[in-house]
Amino acid sequence: MERKARNSAYMKQANRQRILSIIRKKPLSRAELARETGLTRAAISLIIEELIKDGLVTESGVGEAEFGRKPVYLAINPDRFYVVGLNIARDRCVCGIVNLKGEHVLSEEVHIENVYNSEEAIIVIEKAISDIIKRTEIDPGKFLGIGISAPGPIDSINGTILNPPNFPMWHNVNIVREIKKRFPYDVYLENNANALALAERDYGAGIGLKYFMLLVVDTGIGAGIITDSRLYRGIGGFGSEVGHTSIDFNGLKCDCGNKGCLETYASIPSLIRNMKLREYGINSWREIADRAETGDKFCQEVIDREALYLSAAIINVINILELEAVILAGYINYRPGLLLRRLRENIENSVINRNARSVNILNSSIREHAEIISAASIVMDKYFNFSF
Ligand SMILES: [Zn+2]
Repeated sequence: MERKARNSAYMKQANRQRILSIIRKKPLSRAELARETGLTRAAISLIIEELIKDGLVTESGVGEAEFGRKPVYLAINPDRFYVVGLNIARDRCVCGIVNLKGEHVLSEEVHIENVYNSEEAIIVIEKAISDIIKRTEIDPGKFLGIGISAPGPIDSINGTILNPPNFPMWHNVNIVREIKKRFPYDVYLENNANALALAERDYGAGIGLKYFMLLVVDTGIGAGIITDSRLYRGIGGFGSEVGHTSIDFNGLKCDCGNKGCLETYASIPSLIRNMKLREYGINSWREIADRAETGDKFCQEVIDREALYLSAAIINVINILELEAVILAGYINYRPGLLLRRLRENIENSVINRNARSVNILNSSIREHAEIISAASIVMDKYFNFSF
């Protein structure tokens, strides 16, 4: 008896979260929801009634219908709950607030440039989060949690930033425990690339995709992989280290211990060093892309080379996971036309399933407040994606 009661409560909760996770991306009518979920119209109506009562769903206007009654569309109420996003990067730290639809409400820089250890930094962060919550005048009871994104490697299960290179202040800091002590909210930590992959899945170029990799190429190379619409983490949360997969087993020694890691060739500083670009007065991807665009043959060759490096790793990942798309992000997204063309050519001629389907090579489409929306997405993912 007890087992049955628990099961029906579980199913009810699962169906509720499933409906929420569908309509948060696009408003649908009750009939469309029934078709999409396979639930009966009666079951849908009951759940929707409850969600409206809880303030999570609103009826958002009337749709088009040629005959008969026009359908009423159901949408998520963006102001029912909010999330705090905190992004700690090497060069800056920002915190902000995002509503339930993933829309940026307010953000500000957190000035930790002049502090010398993580204890002091956490005090500054605590004040910044409290201040921004006060400034928005949102009821503190409406916050679902605090999502933190930081450079990897991190231990997302225990909430610890481990030992990212060039990030000494934060080594082995359990930031989740520290922030949790100070706020009555759930707190979660993910690495930057994983957080951005969640944001792209829900609000960006990954909408509608179930299998894709988000590849961040800037001072390092990070990746977040979505399989069957969920973030792939591996057994301990260290999965998706595509930057440390080898593209040459006799290659350059990497700090991680492996040889020929993608990052040692294709991160922007590695590319500039290995192609001796400083001798030509070139210090950034921006300069490479600008010169290539104006017809500079050498810079076009540099982009070809970068495409070769990246596609070697991307083809491996696609052949293992059969992804439908790769989304590029980071500095490399500046004037990416030529790079994307070269990547597409290399990849479409080499992946094993090329005769069955093509792989989309896209660029990240979240332009503004990407760090805040990504960090907030970590909490949204926990809230909306009930484990079935
Ligand atoms: Zn490595």
